[in-house]
Amino acid sequence: MKLHEYQSKEIFARYGIPIPKGRVASTAMEARQIAEELGVPVVIKSQVLVGGRGKAGGIRLAKSPKEAEEVATQILGMEIKGLPVRKVLVDPAANIEQEIYLGITNDRAARRPVFMASAAGGVDIEEVARTNPEKIIKVHIDPLLGLRDYQTRDLAIGIDLPKEYWKQFSAICHGLYRAYVECDATLAEINPLVITREKSLMALDGKMLLDDNALFRHPDLAQLRDVDEEAPAETEARKYDLSFIKLDGNIGCMVNGAGLAMTTMDIVKLFGGEPANFLDIGGGASAEKVAAALRIILADKNVKAVLFNIFGGITRCDEVAKGILTALEEVKPSVPMVVRLVGTNAEEGRKLLADANMITAETLADAARKAVAAAASA
Ligand code: GDP
Ligand code: MN
Repeated sequence: MKLHEYQSKEIFARYGIPIPKGRVASTAMEARQIAEELGVPVVIKSQVLVGGRGKAGGIRLAKSPKEAEEVATQILGMEIKGLPVRKVLVDPAANIEQEIYLGITNDRAARRPVFMASAAGGVDIEEVARTNPEKIIKVHIDPLLGLRDYQTRDLAIGIDLPKEYWKQFSAICHGLYRAYVECDATLAEINPLVITREKSLMALDGKMLLDDNALFRHPDLAQLRDVDEEAPAETEARKYDLSFIKLDGNIGCMVNGAGLAMTTMDIVKLFGGEPANFLDIGGGASAEKVAAALRIILADKNVKAVLFNIFGGITRCDEVAKGILTALEEVKPSVPMVVRLVGTNAEEGRKLLADANMITAETLADAARKAVAAAASA
């Protein structure tokens, strides 16, 4: 689950990280009032769950309350990478001397969290990571020992941070690490962490990703989810407890089991196709759940063929077939559908589907080949 900048920064503040004293507005009038209270200049920052807002024109300075209102009007009317802007954060503008990158995430290969810092922070950090990876300093944290002071010094030295800032920097690192651990985050990032002209460090931007599988431990954080900002397919998938990830290809895949779903995607690619999604309907899926899954797949306009790959273990193939039929009544798809059913009640399942105009397949390879061909000729 992604948090908005303002939500991430509120969490950071609870862990002692200095942030600008701004507030969120959902109308231009509110933005103006906040600017009046804070004093100008202010920055008006679109709150959307994507990066690169600055480059997209979603972060702008305003030198008067009137200008704050005008800028907020424009930004609240924007779409950034397909997401409508519904809120803006109005922060007192900072006087920036240097922009630093500071982040922490899981390094799966190292099996521990990794802290990253760079003196070249700001909007081009991805470019830096690509072209000058040595400019990003990494320090791995032993989860049993936690973050040690010598490690925050290593980071500070690595980014040539002047010594006068070390103490503040170390406190910010410790705060960020605690926020990351205690919130069960998979990413906690400050970009930029700035050195201001007043000689202090401050988090101007904030980003947190929370582990969905740990949200049950954090009912307060779970409430922060902004359903307005989610792709409707994701909201729908969560409602039915489906693991769904949209991808860019044109072959919709409906599979039971995460491993089988990955295998199916690989085989689709092997035969020259591109999956439109990852979807695991889970073990023992009901007809209702299957119908929801098919609706989600078919709502994607890129989908030119659907591949069902169902292995009946706990899941019964006839249940899946019933779900498919239910969904077909509702959605009337115009794309070809290839189905491979094996295992428990596969025979019954195939019988149910016999009249539904589906392309059947015996093996997974056969199914993938047929789906790729069907999508190509669509
Ligand atoms: P992002 O583009 O989505 O990462 O949004 P950020 O919040 O990181 O803002 C992008 C850039 O806008 C920053 O790197 C800064 O250069 C600039 N910026 C953000 N806040 C301020 C501010 O208070 N004052 C000034 N002068 N620039 C700011
Ligand atoms: Mn940023």
